[in-house]
Amino acid sequence: SSATTPITATLFPGDGIGPEIAESVKQVFKAAEVPIEWEEHYVGTEIDPRTQSFLTWESLESVRQNRVGLKGPMATPIGKGHRSLNLTLRKELNLYANVRPCNSLPGYKTRYDDVNLITIRENTEGEYSGLEHQVVRGVVESLKIITRQASLRVAEYAFHYAKAHGRERVSAIHKANIMQKTDGLFLKCCREVAEKYPEITYEEVVIDNCCMMLVKNPAFFDVLVMPNLYGDIISDLCAGLVGGLGLTPSCNIGEGGIALAEAVHGSAPDIAGKNLANPTALLLSAVSMLRHLELNDKADKIQDAILNTIAGGKYRTADLGGTSSTTDFTKAICDHL
Ligand code: NAD
Repeated sequence: SSATTPITATLFPGDGIGPEIAESVKQVFKAAEVPIEWEEHYVGTEIDPRTQSFLTWESLESVRQNRVGLKGPMATPIGKGHRSLNLTLRKELNLYANVRPCNSLPGYKTRYDDVNLITIRENTEGEYSGLEHQVVRGVVESLKIITRQASLRVAEYAFHYAKAHGRERVSAIHKANIMQKTDGLFLKCCREVAEKYPEITYEEVVIDNCCMMLVKNPAFFDVLVMPNLYGDIISDLCAGLVGGLGLTPSCNIGEGGIALAEAVHGSAPDIAGKNLANPTALLLSAVSMLRHLELNDKADKIQDAILNTIAGGKYRTADLGGTSSTTDFTKAICDHL
């Protein structure tokens, strides 16, 4: 069914190549007649005292109200007295899970052509709790925090995701043989949730073995759930399996069903403003936002147009070995719609 009332979504074009690839998303959405109205918010030039960040309070409110948004890359300005933009978003919106689908792109040759997995990363605690201090000169300490609440929440999301998307297996990635208390608690929570989903196969894989298996045979994996640091590393490893940063989307899931989709890559200052960026990662992130909104027809249509354009081989950006500009590639996608 086609929705008639437009849905309002927040858009952060972001920095560097952000505005160029955000423009590409806007054009493709327009051509595909997606019923979305964008509420655009740029990163401010001054620190907003209400957020202690260059992100304004209004922009965060916009995401809280719309519950759905798309975010371009943000380069955190250097200097003291403010919080990192991505950290502000994560904390203020309680974005507790980062979901990264990783699929081989038909027609774009990499070492594997059968990668089809999802990494789900706990996004709020673990090694990234930001609790580090010096004990005495020459000795520092970093606290890895694992809580039952955050572990259950991300495990619940992973199983829910697996069930909702017809996936068969959830693998919890850990190092509980060494980190007995922290990763041990994470696993315990995963097991508890697994019991509620008897139709999904549950397994536990030690992180080092997981890396070896991913590189040898990525098709073995289905849905992977893991604490923060492991998720950061494993999801980049997986991005590398399918062709790199220009291609990989992600979505941050927050408290109360907020979904803030974003490309995995940064602001690419080396190619910013040159009409060279590959908009695919942000476009596929926008597609995942549409799926979150259950606008699956539009999502399928746009995804097919992107994949067909890349597979066609005629229009590809430089990172994929082509010569197309961002705007030519975008136009080719619109023509495929
Ligand atoms: P980067 O991802 O911006 O760039 C790494 C390399 O990949 C560069 O050579 C770049 O040209 C290329 N690249 C990235 N995206 C591309 C695309 N869509 N098309 C073609 N090529 C692309 O990483 P970096 O250089 O380490 O970081 C630059 C800035 O981005 C930093 O300020 C960093 O803090 C920020 N950053 C933000 C996010 C985010 O907002 N989520 C993530 C990573 C980095």
